[in-house]
Amino acid sequence: MRPHVSAVRALRHHPRISQCRSLSSTASRRADFTHAIIGAGAVGLAIARRLQQVDGAQVLLIEKHGMVGTETSSRNSEVIHAGLYYGHDSLKTKLCLQGKQMMYEYCERTGVPYMNCGKWIVAQNDLQMEELHKVHDFAKSIGVPIHFVPKDEAKRREPDVRAEAGVLESPSTGIVDSHGFMRQLHADFEDLGGMTALASPVSKIQPPTHGQRQWKIWTAPPRASEPQASSPSAATPEQEGAGDDEASITAETLINSAGLYACGINNMVLPRDRHRTPFYAKGTYFSYSKSHPKPRTLVYPAPVPGHGGLGTHLTLDMAGRVRFGPDVEWVDSPNDLAPTGNSARFAAALEDIKSYLPGIDTESIALDYAGIRPKLGKLGAVASGKGFQDFYIKMEEGYDGFVNLLGIESPGLTSSLAIAEEVHGLLYK
Ligand SMILES: Cc1cc2nc3c(=O)[nH]c(=O)nc-3n(C[C@H](O)[C@H](O)[C@H](O)COP(=O)(O)OP(=O)(O)OC[C@H]3O[C@@H](n4cnc5c(N)ncnc54)[C@H](O)[C@@H]3O)c2cc1C
Repeated sequence: MRPHVSAVRALRHHPRISQCRSLSSTASRRADFTHAIIGAGAVGLAIARRLQQVDGAQVLLIEKHGMVGTETSSRNSEVIHAGLYYGHDSLKTKLCLQGKQMMYEYCERTGVPYMNCGKWIVAQNDLQMEELHKVHDFAKSIGVPIHFVPKDEAKRREPDVRAEAGVLESPSTGIVDSHGFMRQLHADFEDLGGMTALASPVSKIQPPTHGQRQWKIWTAPPRASEPQASSPSAATPEQEGAGDDEASITAETLINSAGLYACGINNMVLPRDRHRTPFYAKGTYFSYSKSHPKPRTLVYPAPVPGHGGLGTHLTLDMAGRVRFGPDVEWVDSPNDLAPTGNSARFAAALEDIKSYLPGIDTESIALDYAGIRPKLGKLGAVASGKGFQDFYIKMEEGYDGFVNLLGIESPGLTSSLAIAEEVHGLLYK
């Protein structure tokens, strides 16, 4: 594990950044950086690493917290998804398939802990079995390995798992140590010469003016003026004389990878008629303290069309611990991160869990942690059913050099390395 070179350096205290800024005031009028990326979650880190590989690139990764990867990227199921749920022609399917492959290869090459443990999707009745058939047919149509497990084999392999109507197995699903993955991406990025400004919340952005290709980006002192998730704060040239505590840099391109706060960054840059309202779907996890029952594969209930998530499923972490979740609860704030333990929710989750793991000791299930999915509406996570939300990854029209990433919910971790390729493609192809 490497220490982060710039672990506590805010933008305004960064000596290498001050050096770049003085260079920028020379006659060449070049921007301080070739690329500025807002947000050092798994996706921002992967993009930063990819863009720093471009010849002549000098990338700045800007993060509001004092460490990388402390928001959604460290509050998820750590599943390497196979790409079973997101429909034909969606970005989620394309990037999940490509990202899964890249993730396995990257973890293998760099030693990031992962396990290709596979996953079962279980059906308890005919209706759920219909959903499994849809998943099966879709997976076949896009070339993702999938098969039904015969009943006697299922009983033999996982005697504790109940699946009255059938089991669909996805052998290419796995799990990854998300923290180890992000540490490795960050180490790669800094080894390539990239720079990270931590504790640097972006507070204002000024798009290029007068035909110059320079984005100007201000950061505020941490916490003091963190933008709300959707509040616009576009800078006008008159606002240039920012407060003493603010720092600014310029960059030729700007990438918005701010996760739950990405709509706020979108609204700083784009005109009012292109503003976005963020929606938040919280998912609470439950821990399990007993060593039995403990399946060796991930277990998911059949997908429910139009649902905001994939159902209260059983996942394992790299230490072999069982956890359940996440459920779906619409909340008003990206800070509403306390796991929700009201009795109705807890009872509903227990009901879900007992349906496929009847031998579970419910006394040993406890509230664990929660994560929040960044949504662009009260939309479903899977393509069956109405209102599917795809990833939004675009070079914004009329804003050359601004790549905007919105709604990067699951399978964003799995897809992160492929998302980085996608962003590279938008800028260079
Ligand atoms: C409950 C849950 C379960 C999930 N399970 C899985 C799974 O099993 N597999 C999978 O592939 N995906 C899963 N996901 C999705 C995955 O976690 C996300 O898609 C991924 O982590 C998104 O990464 P990110 O870098 O876009 O966002 P984040 O990790 O949220 O990073 C964004 C960063 O931007 C920073 N930031 C925000 N605003 C500013 C600002 N103004 N200035 C500077 N920095 C700023 C934040 O501090 C943060 O560090 C799950 C998500 C949830 C919520």
